[in-house]
Amino acid sequence: MILRSGFFFLVMIWGISVFGWAEEDKPFLFSPLAEVPEWRLLDSYQGTITRQEFQERARRIFDPSGALEKYMTIDDVGLKLYRDVAKTEPLFYLRWAGSGGGEGRGPVAFFLADPEKPLQGQVICLDPGHIGGDWADIEERTFRIGRDRPVVEGELNLKTCRILAERLTAAGAKVVWTHDGFSPTTALRPNDLYPEAIEYLLQDLKGRRSPRYSMNGLIRWNAELLFYRSAEIQARARRVNEEMHPDFTVCVHYNAAPWGRSGRASLTTISRLVLFSHGAYTASELVYDDQKFHLFRKLLENCTPEELDLGMAIGQQFQKKWGFPPENYEGSGYASASGVSPYVWHRNLIANRLFRGPVIFVEGPYMNDRTTYAWIQAGEYEGKRNIGGKERQNIFREYADRVADGVIERFRTLSARSTAFTNYSP
Ligand SMILES: [Zn+2]
Repeated sequence: MILRSGFFFLVMIWGISVFGWAEEDKPFLFSPLAEVPEWRLLDSYQGTITRQEFQERARRIFDPSGALEKYMTIDDVGLKLYRDVAKTEPLFYLRWAGSGGGEGRGPVAFFLADPEKPLQGQVICLDPGHIGGDWADIEERTFRIGRDRPVVEGELNLKTCRILAERLTAAGAKVVWTHDGFSPTTALRPNDLYPEAIEYLLQDLKGRRSPRYSMNGLIRWNAELLFYRSAEIQARARRVNEEMHPDFTVCVHYNAAPWGRSGRASLTTISRLVLFSHGAYTASELVYDDQKFHLFRKLLENCTPEELDLGMAIGQQFQKKWGFPPENYEGSGYASASGVSPYVWHRNLIANRLFRGPVIFVEGPYMNDRTTYAWIQAGEYEGKRNIGGKERQNIFREYADRVADGVIERFRTLSARSTAFTNYSP
């Protein structure tokens, strides 16, 4: 589940970045807590992509709205990216590959996987969404109906990932984790982030105030959001990028239909499924330097084909075994159709932006759908039970099996991609 409203609220109230304004008096440089981009890291991609390839990937995957163009000048030799739309402050220069295609591309390998161990040699990182445990309330990822057992998304994600890990390991993969338990990966805590939260508010005293929060409440709410979103996911990204170097990462979540008007927990009778591949940056995101940097890094890494292969294969399992319809984000402005599967959409999320290498982000069934809710309440039972009129294994097992079967199917049927993500240069 993704806290969309919260994120946009943060963007709104952080309108002027606390990191940009103090020294340079220039707004909109970095997202909250973002690391300063090191553009030199992209120099290893000089001369590896043609103008045509770049423009095609930008239009189809990363910049469907065309917002990036305002920050670039392009000619036959390369492109110049600027911080500002007036194009006065250059950030990065990219030289095109000579005609005849990217110089850095190797041939696609056409060996098929060992049928017994189709994932042999793959290092797969699991990222169970959210923290859970003592942090579930702060994360706003828990609800309770009456005297039922509370539903805590972080715990559902972790249970599912533990079964998924067994399946992937049995198929030959080495499984690594962004976290395995209910402790944050980041060493920071909300209290540590009050200065950043306050710094913003000092600038914005005359600006918009949410009537929902007192000033103290707003500071605390912001500090918490900085903790569980920005700091936590950045810490996980450092693990992925600097220690584990997986071949790909699977982010596992359960979704929820929006609560009714009262905002109180209530059940619905709908469930949809979706998988996200990185992309679809919005105009308001591309104002920030760090977002531009990550767009370029991801576009040049070229992990999209691998993400789409995985997403397509998992989507097929969802359709075949569960049959829940896919989400439809047409016209949303923040997600664009992948074109390979109705279940797979491009979207720019903090985890799939910061984690290097292919990332497939899986949003499972709606926790507040009546049938799914009963299925969750039934717990991790053995064998099968009647859930909503069908004989079902427990939900964690079924969800893990859908994902595992999709991943295994992708490796059983498709050739390995030696051209996929290979570059972990410093
Ligand atoms: Zn979630």
